[in-house]
Amino acid sequence: MSDLGDALDCQSCGACCASPHDPLPGVAGQPPTASLEPFVAVDPLDYDLLGPERVRRLVVLDPLVPSGLALAVRKTARGGAACACLQGDPGHDERVACQVYEVRPHACREVRAGGTWCRESRRLLGFETG
Ligand code: SF4
Ligand code: SF4
Repeated sequence: MSDLGDALDCQSCGACCASPHDPLPGVAGQPPTASLEPFVAVDPLDYDLLGPERVRRLVVLDPLVPSGLALAVRKTARGGAACACLQGDPGHDERVACQVYEVRPHACREVRAGGTWCRESRRLLGFETG
């Protein structure tokens, strides 16, 4: 992990789970370069996510992604958008948390604090990038 990664606290950030834009830019079926949303595809292998009733409410049909399933998106207090699974608004609330952290999609697990995706997400939301 980079020095930046060591210094970052994801629970006071959440940038990679959100976007400053609404509607959100991106290429259908692919994670946009900056933010996970709104194209966090839910893969059939993410079956743990699809099980509990609480989580099922957060997954929507999305013909733009190969699996046909994606996480729902909601508006944030700042007029952007965030994953519906994210509790709190990045840049607005002191703490944020993924409600489905233990069963979050594979796409989310690939994001590393201090990595390229992290830095770009933070840059877009105006957070320090080191
Ligand atoms: S953008 Fe980086 S620091 Fe922020 S929550 Fe995502 S991985 Fe963590
Ligand atoms: S599922 Fe959790 S980690 Fe993935 S984008 Fe949503 S809030 Fe972030």
